Amino acid sequence: MGLCQRWRRLRLSGLQTCRLHTAAVPAPPQWLAERLGLFEELWTAQVKKLASVAQKEHRTIKISLPGGQRVDAVAWSTTPYQLAQQISSTLADTAVAAQVNGELYDLERPLETDSDLRFLTFSSAEGKAVFWHSSTHVLGAAAEQLLGAVLCRGPSTECGFYHDFFLGKERTVRGSELPALERICQELAAAAQPFRRLEASQDQLRQLFKDNPFKLRLIEEKVTGPTAIVYGCGMLVDLCRGPHLRHTGQIGGLKLLTNSSSLWRSSGAPEPLQRVSGISFPTMEELRAWEEGREEAELRDHRRIGKAQELFFFHELSPGSCFFLPRGTRVYNALVAFIRAEYTRRGFSEVKTPILFSTKLWEVSGHWEHYQEDMFALQPPDSDRLSSSLSDHAPSHPADTLALKPMNCPAHCLMFAHRPRSWRELPLRLADFGALHRAEASGSLGGLTRLRCFQQDDAHIFCAPDQLETEIQGCLDFLRSVYTVLGFSFRLALSTRPSSFLGEPCLWDQAEQVLQRALEEFGEPWELNPGDGAFYGPKIDVHLRDALGRPHQCGTIQLDFQLPLRFDLQYKGQAGAPEHPVVIHRAVLGSVERMLGVLAESCGGKWPLWLSPFQVVVIPVGTEQEEYAREAQRRLQAAGLVCDLDANSGLTLSRRVRRAQLAHYNFQFVVGQKEQSKRTVNIRTRDNCQLGEWDLTEAVQRLLELQNTRVPNAEQVF
Ligand SMILES: [Zn+2]
Ligand SMILES: [Zn+2]
Repeated sequence: MGLCQRWRRLRLSGLQTCRLHTAAVPAPPQWLAERLGLFEELWTAQVKKLASVAQKEHRTIKISLPGGQRVDAVAWSTTPYQLAQQISSTLADTAVAAQVNGELYDLERPLETDSDLRFLTFSSAEGKAVFWHSSTHVLGAAAEQLLGAVLCRGPSTECGFYHDFFLGKERTVRGSELPALERICQELAAAAQPFRRLEASQDQLRQLFKDNPFKLRLIEEKVTGPTAIVYGCGMLVDLCRGPHLRHTGQIGGLKLLTNSSSLWRSSGAPEPLQRVSGISFPTMEELRAWEEGREEAELRDHRRIGKAQELFFFHELSPGSCFFLPRGTRVYNALVAFIRAEYTRRGFSEVKTPILFSTKLWEVSGHWEHYQEDMFALQPPDSDRLSSSLSDHAPSHPADTLALKPMNCPAHCLMFAHRPRSWRELPLRLADFGALHRAEASGSLGGLTRLRCFQQDDAHIFCAPDQLETEIQGCLDFLRSVYTVLGFSFRLALSTRPSSFLGEPCLWDQAEQVLQRALEEFGEPWELNPGDGAFYGPKIDVHLRDALGRPHQCGTIQLDFQLPLRFDLQYKGQAGAPEHPVVIHRAVLGSVERMLGVLAESCGGKWPLWLSPFQVVVIPVGTEQEEYAREAQRRLQAAGLVCDLDANSGLTLSRRVRRAQLAHYNFQFVVGQKEQSKRTVNIRTRDNCQLGEWDLTEAVQRLLELQNTRVPNAEQVF
């Protein structure tokens, strides 16, 4: 078949089916025609060669199938797909690739030797990776054809795929171009174009990709052997290790999601690239279900809730730091107050420490050596530098560089060390909500999940070795109390000594046994992560699940033998000799900001009363009751409750009640003529449950009780 004919056939099978696009798709450029021609030539030769090898060898091989069954096959001829068909037509239809002696294989790639054969479907993570990786080729082909893109790379990701390509230094992909690109992808998928695997020599590779400078660089860098694999699929030929789907028709539903810019970072000068991302599924129904799930998740996204409820915002003039508005601050403070109350109960002492330190501190703590890139460093003011060079009393070296603290531990060590300590003071539990700064890359910042400035419910326990077990039990109990109130379940894991650890092995052994005993005593299920501890001590990892069952890592309990040595912390032991304390780093909420985001999503903006920035709204029936409504509001506010007034008489009562419920006010206090004369309120909940008439004083009292006991369902138990 001549090239022109082939081009026509390809267009008929793919693009031509939708007449709307034919005008948008440029005629086949010469370079593409040449590449396709060469590919066909090489493909025909490979098919011939394989057939003759199969015929010449004519060797029977043994294949063991999933489930233990063993079958005979013909070397260089039988394919995993043929064997899948023998097992069941459903498997043949749903398999996306095979695993042959542990290596990933195309379903159409002939088996060569005795093999252990497994099939991958979309249901597994590896199967999804093959599926999405194949989908990105379809996207690449569409970008090449519609936009004249020069393709760079197209990997699968944890949730979908993207393709990076070059459109010239100035040209970008516009969001308005995605629908047309998506339609072409869908048509290419519907055309069920087979993926064909071809082994090509270095020379052939250079010939195939002579018009793509990026691929030429990749060939130069990555192809170390005499040959490498390329795949042909419709009009696309791409350098790729595979494996892929049998054909693009296995992609039943495909959606393009975002367009953004990216950068070519491999060898040579950096080049501006365009990135388009998408997701795909075996069926349209699965795509629809995913879209519905995503809409639900978007509704629950804490950034959306934060905006809708006026909790917080971000500003480009302080990237990665959050502005908490009055309502957000109310939630924030309620969380911190909860932890403070626990501190009082549990013998923790709250302290305040500086946020700016000389880098000498970070040299002692080891942060300057291991963590410097994640810290914000600042130059001291000019006057410091001047005085250090002019004044007789100033040190002879230049003034120190300063850095914002990324964690509190070194400051607490200074506090422990600032005067002699006795065993009678231990355990010393220092808690600190100080602001921490970490130099996160701007690209990684997102809502409250990752910030440059945040506060933790951070505490450090300085104790004697024989107090460790009780202290760890105390930490575990602290975690459980807080997570129960927040409605989270959790799993614990003990991470033990890694291969590169610091300190005495016998100390490690003892500490690990202590942690293990504390966990057993605690009574909740836990698992062992051998070798997963930090180099300075073993730890207990806490994996919590929110109300939606989503996992989060927030709390931590971490032993540290190194910090007391680095700071040479000592206390006078019972026998009179100096001893080193052990330090426990622990946090329950972790970052308060991040926890606020987790909670917003977990409750979907319907805050429990004790955290709620929308506790009560008072709604007067008519203008005559406004004065009494205001008085009720003042009474609630005086008691420390959040209370708004909706006196907008332009709207009917039922509209205002509905509006309050949609805004998730836990309670609505309606006051009419009767309530005014009897000093009562008529109470409804946000779920439109009518609680009837209550004496105002008693209602305030009841709300306070429910707030102070932090019940999760005040509306139901009022
Ligand atoms: Zn590929
Ligand atoms: Zn710490």
